[in-house]
Amino acid sequence: MQAKADAQDGKTCPICGAPRSEKYRPFCSRRCADVDLNRWLSGRYAVPAIEADDADLGGPPDTAIGEVGTDGGRSE
Ligand SMILES: [Zn+2]
Repeated sequence: MQAKADAQDGKTCPICGAPRSEKYRPFCSRRCADVDLNRWLSGRYAVPAIEADDADLGGPPDTAIGEVGTDGGRSE
């Protein structure tokens, strides 16, 4: 099976929002790829207290939360 990481959220770099490059996709440049990598690496050692405010670029972050419980018969 192939891991299809395409078509996640359009064709823009998830780091800076610029049009992404085929070479560095899903990022626009190696710099942004490094930024993402550093986030992962630093996240392994210490969870930052910083909220990802670049999530604002995608849309309202709080709307999808609280949709759990459609099963309607599950107790913990
Ligand atoms: Zn970028």
